[in-house]
Formats: sequence, C-alpha cells, structure tokens
Amino acid sequence: MSLFSEHNISIYNSISGQKEVFKPINEGNIGMYVCGPTVYSNVHLGNLRTFMSFDMIFRYFKHLGYKVRYVRNITDAGHLENDADEGEDRIAKKARIEQIEPMEVVQKYTVDFHNILNLFNFLPPSIEPTATGHIVDQIEIIKIILEKGLAYEVNGSVYFDVLKYNKSYDYGVLSGRKIEDLIHNTRSLEGQTDKKNPQDFALWKKAEPKHIMRWPSPWGMGFPGWHIECTAMSIKYLGKHFDIHGGGIDLKFPHHECEIAQAKAWNDCSPVNYWVHANMLTLNGQKMAKSTGNNILPSEILSGNTNQLSKGFSPSVVRFFMMQAHYRSILDFSNDALLASEKGFLKLMDALKTLVNLTPSNTATNFDVSNWKKRCYDAMNDDFNTPMLISEIFSAVKYINQIKDGSSSIDTENLKTLKATLNGFVFEVLALQDNTNSNSDKKLRETIEILIALRKQARDQKNFGLSDQIRDQLAEIDIQLKDSKDGTTFSLD
Ligand code: AMP
Ligand code: ZN
Repeated sequence: MSLFSEHNISIYNSISGQKEVFKPINEGNIGMYVCGPTVYSNVHLGNLRTFMSFDMIFRYFKHLGYKVRYVRNITDAGHLENDADEGEDRIAKKARIEQIEPMEVVQKYTVDFHNILNLFNFLPPSIEPTATGHIVDQIEIIKIILEKGLAYEVNGSVYFDVLKYNKSYDYGVLSGRKIEDLIHNTRSLEGQTDKKNPQDFALWKKAEPKHIMRWPSPWGMGFPGWHIECTAMSIKYLGKHFDIHGGGIDLKFPHHECEIAQAKAWNDCSPVNYWVHANMLTLNGQKMAKSTGNNILPSEILSGNTNQLSKGFSPSVVRFFMMQAHYRSILDFSNDALLASEKGFLKLMDALKTLVNLTPSNTATNFDVSNWKKRCYDAMNDDFNTPMLISEIFSAVKYINQIKDGSSSIDTENLKTLKATLNGFVFEVLALQDNTNSNSDKKLRETIEILIALRKQARDQKNFGLSDQIRDQLAEIDIQLKDSKDGTTFSLD
C-alpha cells in the first residue's frame, strides 16, 4: 500500500480562499503545472524561492508515493515588459541591447537557470516545454476562441474580449476582482492600442518586420501573447482539467486569471482544481524584482560578494532558511536571518551525524517516536507546513543530543524509525545536503581560521605587507576574506 493512502493533505486553494482536502483526479497520480522563468536575465533569489516551494511540494508528493507529472515551462517569447500588453518583448529587448540573437539570450539564461537549480539541489520537472516550441498549439487555441466569438482580430493582432466573456462566464473568479472595478480603474489607452477595451488582453500580437521573433499565423506574422502559452502547454501535457497549477502570487492577476478565461472560452472547462500561490521574498521590506534591481543573485549569496552580506552561504543553508518560512508567508531576506539559519542547519547536521553512531538500549524513554513521526506528517499534510516540520525535527535533535549525553535512551525499533523518518524529511523532502561532512572540508576551514588569526596579529603589529599578502594569496585560490566591524569571515567559491 502506498504511503499516500494513509495521508490526507489539505492545500490552500487560492480560488476558494480555503484549505481543502486534496483529492487528485486520478487516484495515485498528480498533474502539476508551474509557471517557469522568463529567460531574459539571471534568476534572482526571489524567483528561486517560488521554484523551491514547488520543488518541496513535488518532493513531498513523490515521498508519499504519488506518480507526479510536473510540468514547468520556459517562457522564451511573448512576455512583454509590462503585464498589461505594453512595451517591448523582454527577450527581444535584451537581444537588442546585447546585440545578440534572441535565442542566444534564451540559451544563456536557460543554462544559468538550470545551473542554479542544480546547485540548489532541485529535482528536474517531468516536462519543461518552451513557448516557442508550442506556437502551433497556441494558434490552434486562438482560432477556436475566435470562432466562439470571444476574441477579435484588429490589424493582425488578436485580443481576448473580456467584457463579452464576462457575460457568459465570470472574469475575476481567481483574483476576486470585479469587472466593474477593472473598468473603473484601468486607464483608457485611446489611440495607443487596437484593443476595444483596456481590460482585453493579447492572444496574438502583430510583429513588425524588424521584430526577429515572429511566426506566420492566419493573422499575419506575429508572436503569441504571454498568457496563452501556459494554457496551451498545461493542457497539452496534463489534459483540459488537471490537479494543480502553481506560480508566484504576483502571477495570480492578470496571468492566471487570463489562463482560466482562455481555457473556459476554448473548451468550456475550468482547467485547474487547486490553484497554489507561493509568496514573495523581500529585501529591505520590498519585493525582490529584476526590474527594480532590488534583488540578490544566487551566485552572490554563495560567494558573499554583495554589500548585503557579511559572508557567503552554502546552498543548503539558503534552502534551510527558505524552508523555515511557510510558502504562503512573505519572507524577508537579511544577513542576520541567514546567519541564524546557518547555526540551526549546522546543529541539525551535527545531530544527524550523532544519530548514525547512537547505540540502542532497552531502557524506557519519555520521547514517543511514533507520535513524533505522526506530527511530522501532520505538519506537511497541513498545507506543506515546513516551519512546523522543522520545529518537530528540532525536538528530535534535542532528543538525539540527550541520548548522546546519556540523559535519555532509545530502543532498536524506535532508532530505526527515527533514522528513516529524519533522513526522509531532511534529505528527500527538504532536500538539504550535508556539505559539512568531509573531514578535509573541516580541516580546510580550521586552517583558514588560523590564517585569519595570523593576519590579525600581523595587522595589530602594523605589518600590513604580510596581512595583505595573506588576503591576496587566499583570493588567488578563490578564498575571499571579508572584514567587518565584527571581525573577519571567509567564503570558499
Ligand atoms: P519571471 O521570470 O519574472 O516570470 O518569474 C518567475 C517566477 O518567480 C514567477 O513565479 C514569479 O511569481 C516568481 N517571483 C518573482 N519575484 C519573486 C519574489 N520576489 N519572491 C518570490 N517569487 C518571485
Ligand atoms: Zn504561466
């Protein structure tokens, strides 16, 4: 019997605004679609957080024995600078600025995305389709929406007719926005657009001859709108009605609202059972974003080469930091928070090393391992509550340390359960990696600490030649020293 049959997961469904008991359409199978990155620049830590939340969800489903088809796309065309269909295509713009082909932009940042995800121990999705690989599928859907009279063509572009759609369906079901408010709040684009109404959105945009990323269509040369790609790819690979659709909460409107409208207009079926939205990572209280520059890159956090950090942090510490917050809570990034997470992470890794060498005994204990195991699953079954899971894991850490110092004990059977449960949650579900393991790594770190102490001595004696030499020679082998008012720290690149 699969583990999933023993567990009821409840998931917060953005469309109902409630936690609901999760029931997949086909027992034992899950179809999950997550909006992927627009590959026109390096992913920042905020993007990484959203993808990590879904990696954790994917991993937990797999841990429970579900067969999951996880589709996460690559947006390599159609995403304009402004979500309201205005501005240049983000990838085309970058290509123009860097004077390279748009597909070179796409290749460069797709490779970066995959490298970063590998470093942070992500599982690859089951399918990773691209928008440009599905132009034909998108055109076919647009043709049908046009036939149904819910879109219109103007000057080689096709727009979705939101007001007409809203007469038969409900535009705003996901975001809770009322069409009247949208009409009231959207500024008129008189003279700037071919749209009948500002709420309408592009399904297909006409491209001028200078636009490199353009494809033939029944309406002339052009490119697809941003929202239609996700409708085409999710339904192609998961069916017209599938289990879970995810993305960052900033995609709820207009992107996901438009996806629902397109799918319903196309085949009269609400496409998704559970809409799952991950919350934002902030920096200095503001959303991390590519456009504002208020962001940190994963490479910067690893090296520590940014003003925001006193040192570099390992991928597992970053993962641990992210998993300490619930995926639906806003999480603020700071050096202090990372330092605290590192402490916790190292304590956990130490306890797991102790666990390997614990010897069982038959003395009675007051720690109920079976009950603790149940509480770990209860946490994850309650809308993937990783902070609660981590707090349970730390009650086990405390217990392990008590067994080590002789103030508690564990019998053979419970030791087996404790080891299996901790390994499953820590390494499989939270996907932490013990990079503190190797003895040589430990010795290297201790050696650098000795060099830092010698450098300090040299500086105290005003021997700056020697202190600079220590710093520079370490830098030559990619060991960076960083001085701050609290002392010197280092990072290994
Ligand atoms: P983009 O490449 O801009 O399309 O974004 C890729 C994913 O990252 C989307 O799911 C966004 O919702 C998500 N995202 C963007 N900024 C943040 C942030 N500051 N925190 C968490 N997720 C974010
Ligand atoms: Zn999408």
